[in-house]
Amino acid sequence: MKEILPDICIETVRCDLKNMSSVNMVIVRGGERSLLVDAGIPPIVSDVSRTALEAALRELGLEPDRLDCVITHLHGDHLGLIPYLHEHGARVFMNPEEAERRLDVVCHRLSYPRERKAFYRAMGCECREDSGEYRLLCSQADECYSFYPDELHFDFLPVRAGEVLEYGRYRLRAVGLKGHTFGQIGLYDEDGRVLFCADQVIPGVVPIVGSSSETDSYLGLYLDSLEELRSRYEGVLFVPGHGKCFVNDGSEIGNILNAYRERLAAVREILRQAGSPMTVREVSGAVYGPQFSVISGNNYQDVMLMWYKTCACLRYLEETGSVREEKKEGIIYWVADPGKEFYDQDRAGV
Ligand SMILES: [Zn+2]
Repeated sequence: MKEILPDICIETVRCDLKNMSSVNMVIVRGGERSLLVDAGIPPIVSDVSRTALEAALRELGLEPDRLDCVITHLHGDHLGLIPYLHEHGARVFMNPEEAERRLDVVCHRLSYPRERKAFYRAMGCECREDSGEYRLLCSQADECYSFYPDELHFDFLPVRAGEVLEYGRYRLRAVGLKGHTFGQIGLYDEDGRVLFCADQVIPGVVPIVGSSSETDSYLGLYLDSLEELRSRYEGVLFVPGHGKCFVNDGSEIGNILNAYRERLAAVREILRQAGSPMTVREVSGAVYGPQFSVISGNNYQDVMLMWYKTCACLRYLEETGSVREEKKEGIIYWVADPGKEFYDQDRAGV
């Protein structure tokens, strides 16, 4: 493990999955108890997180029953070792808001067959049982998401935004990081000027923005949170859930804000020019490229991620009144509202 600050150690665990090359494992060494931030990848997907944790505990001379683990948010790549931690007497903490809105589109919609069909249909897929594409969509969802329902239910101690957890020299205040999920939290130490920022900011990546139903979107919350992180935590060391640690000079956050602004503008423009209703699938293909409207075994997860991002943009534009949905036979169609201005530019920080 690499010590990035006194008693804060990080190991970048390589996993080489389709959509993820690595996850960060972070341990804050304390006196009585130590802290692990997030619980890595489930052994059913890959054993790398468990192997890395066991090696780290040996190296640092820590016992798992004197470990606390804060789960920043309910995504599978952050929950994997919870059963292992429980089994070995560790304590697990999470923001209860995550449990209340656990039915995140990423984790939930594609895990249960009935929800899955409604989701694909809403996105604009035909969903006939005898269609090759629908069978492929279902088999890919089984492969990628079927382990989620069990993973999402576990016992935890509550930790809410504003509460403080202490480990050795660090007083870590839980910070709400809404947007990537509804109840995601980070941890901030004011004296050490370090923020564990979970998946809110990942260097070089535009994180997805979730939702827990077909009709809500967290993109507005996400953009607001990024603006706050950019100004309030200037000069602070950010330790993300994936990728390299970096000192926040506003550039990584600016890149993400710009990317979402550009996509919001592109989505709005595509709908305006189309002049007729479009499905999420069609909009996504037009924004991100035609490869994101055709499903194959190789690109399934990429396509799903682009659909989530497109949904988030459309819902945001809907909130600001510049597009609206029309639902027909389970399919959501989107139309530009020609009378309305482009999205709220102040809010998106333009
Ligand atoms: Zn993650």
